[in-house]
Amino acid sequence: MAGMLYLVPTPIGNLGDISQRCRETLEQADFIAAEDTRVSLKLLNHLGIKKSLVSYYEHNKAFKGEKIVARILAGETCALVSDAGSPAISDPGEDLVRLCHDAGITVCAIPGPCAVITALSISGQATGRFCFEGFLSTAKKSRREHLEALKTEQRTMIFYEAPHKLLNTLEDMAAAFGADRSISLCRELTKLHEEVVRTTLGEAVAKYTAEAPKGEFVLVVAGAPETKKEAATAEDAAARVSRLMEEGLSRKDAVKQTAAELDLPRNVVYSAALQEE
Ligand code: SAM
Repeated sequence: MAGMLYLVPTPIGNLGDISQRCRETLEQADFIAAEDTRVSLKLLNHLGIKKSLVSYYEHNKAFKGEKIVARILAGETCALVSDAGSPAISDPGEDLVRLCHDAGITVCAIPGPCAVITALSISGQATGRFCFEGFLSTAKKSRREHLEALKTEQRTMIFYEAPHKLLNTLEDMAAAFGADRSISLCRELTKLHEEVVRTTLGEAVAKYTAEAPKGEFVLVVAGAPETKKEAATAEDAAARVSRLMEEGLSRKDAVKQTAAELDLPRNVVYSAALQEE
């Protein structure tokens, strides 16, 4: 019988955030695949768990993924952990999950610490609709293109960012979204120096020009404001009715269609059309 793959989230700062279920899964797995075995060994030592560890990271994932899948197919259970947070979210793991699906292996994701959700909930930005954009490219051109493509995005946008790239990213965001756009900089979440700075992109640029950013950041940026459609005028309505009639529609149908297209009451469109005649 084939084994299983468990995705086991680990604390993003506070070691108390490891759940009972994660602990048990790590204890019961046949082996643990870890992004950095030294980082995971520290956590396992803290939990008092001794377990065989294999490395699975960005640059060996193609080769190691096949090996892990073969072990699971032979009946072993694997727990996948990343350095911190939920595996497969801007972490190696996405490919292993896909390989397991392709091989008919059951994948079980245990809920737990995840920087994107922790940041969104604490950010003070709208949480109803959001999109996660992960890490922006380190290459200036593609980073700017990525941000430019998000210019009219109305959902709250969430980015992961490293401190040494923060200022460039904030400057590019201010250029793409405007200096007045609201942003929450969520830093060192769940750690001693946890901090959420809710400000504007312009002020964030000023702040981190004056002081060097330290620690891990999630950036939660407000979406673009809804653009109000300009209300159609009586002249617009009359012109549209006359155009539709030229195309062969009866007056009644032209008025009906125009009212629907321009979001105007039918009687307003009707009298506008009559006045134009
Ligand atoms: N898979 C992990 C997750 O979703 O929680 C994220 C892994 S990703 C390689 C690492 C990035 O997550 C960091 O660069 C930072 O943007 C964010 N991050 C992780 N821990 C954080 C923390 N305690 N506070 C703020 N951001 C954090």
